[in-house]
Order: sequence, then structure tokens, then C-alpha cells
Amino acid sequence: MNWIKKIKSCIILLLLLAAVLAIGYWKQGKLPVFGKTLEEPMGKKVALTFDDGPHPYYTEQLLDGLKKRGVKATFFVTGEHASLHPEVIERMNEEGHLIGNHTYSHIQLKSSNREKFKEELIKTNEIIEGITGKEVVFVRPPYGTWDKSFEAELNMIPVLWTVDPLDWCSKNVACVVDKVVNKTKENDIILMHDYYESTVTAAFEIVDQLQKEGYEFVTVEEILFD
Ligand SMILES: [Zn+2]
Repeated sequence: MNWIKKIKSCIILLLLLAAVLAIGYWKQGKLPVFGKTLEEPMGKKVALTFDDGPHPYYTEQLLDGLKKRGVKATFFVTGEHASLHPEVIERMNEEGHLIGNHTYSHIQLKSSNREKFKEELIKTNEIIEGITGKEVVFVRPPYGTWDKSFEAELNMIPVLWTVDPLDWCSKNVACVVDKVVNKTKENDIILMHDYYESTVTAAFEIVDQLQKEGYEFVTVEEILFD
């Protein structure tokens, strides 16, 4: 009978729908599996970023302390400094930090120098890739000035920041630490410069305090894409 077939089809459709919904919930970790949920306790993520390096002394000091604390950071290096200190770039890469482009000579993008700016980005990518063998995807434009069309032209992703303690102008460690610790919340990107001794000292205090508050330090890639 025709209506029996229709009812059977409806039941099959409903069962399929229920199965799809159940799989969806299971993937989100909302259903208990063998007595425990699939949701893992996640730390609050935050990213430390360091611009303008590498510095032959302070960056090495910073890498020592980050290693000791199990912290992964992101370094936006200039091509000029990277070619002067390739061994520091190599070490960043080996120790699991993310390396991004900060132009060759720390040039600021203006309407009059678009081509020069682009050339600096390409040159710096080549320098970093020549050292690490890895493609450079992330760029922090100096002074935050950017042209969106570079993203498609160069296949690069700009990374700005959400917490700026102005460490380059205040050498007062306590002041820099307080600014960052008081402002930081989950998924923030902290801007600092691995070119000053005070920044290195402040960075360690920031890590120690925020780790105690349950923060996990990750690269900007994890903040932007996880
Ligand atoms: Zn800079």
C-alpha cells in the first residue's frame, strides 16, 4: 500500500536525521563517551609577540627563559637583523617559535612607497625561508600600516596586537608588567620588542604571573586559527 511506504520513508528519514544530530553533538564533545565527556580542559590562550629583532644578546636571553618556562612565542623579525644573526633565527625555529616578517629595514608603508614596501616583504621572506626552510605566512607591518591587497598578492596574513605596554619607551619593568598583566584576557596578542634588557626581564615576569592565572602561551597561529 502506498501510504505504508510513505510512513516507512518518513521513519527512515527521521532516523537518519537523529543519527546526524547525534554525530554532531558527539563531535562537539557534548555527549558522554564511556562515562567521561570528550571536552578537554583547555588553558586560556594568549600570545607573546616580539618585534624588531633578532638582537644578538637580548633575544638569546629571552629564548633561554622562554624555553625554561615552556613558552612558545612569535617573533616578527626584520630581514636586516635576520641576515646579521641567522643563528638566532635558526634557534627560534628549532625551539618551536613562530617567525614572521617585519619588513627588511623597518619601513613604514606610505602611498608613495608601496612597491618598495612589497619588495622588502619579499626579500625578508626569502632571508627567513633561506634559514629555516619554512614558508613565511605572517607579517606585522611596522607601525600597523597595511594595504589589504598585499594579502592576496603575497599570500600573507597581517597580525596586529591587542595589548601594547609601550615597552620600547618605558624601561620601567614593573610598569610594563603591570600594564600587560592587568589588561590581558583570553586570546590576546601582546606586543613587545626583544631589543631591550628591560623587555626580557618584563617578559619573564609576565609569563610567570599569567601562567599562575592559568594562561597558556601559544603562537599567533594558534590564536588566529584554533
Ligand atoms: Zn617594529
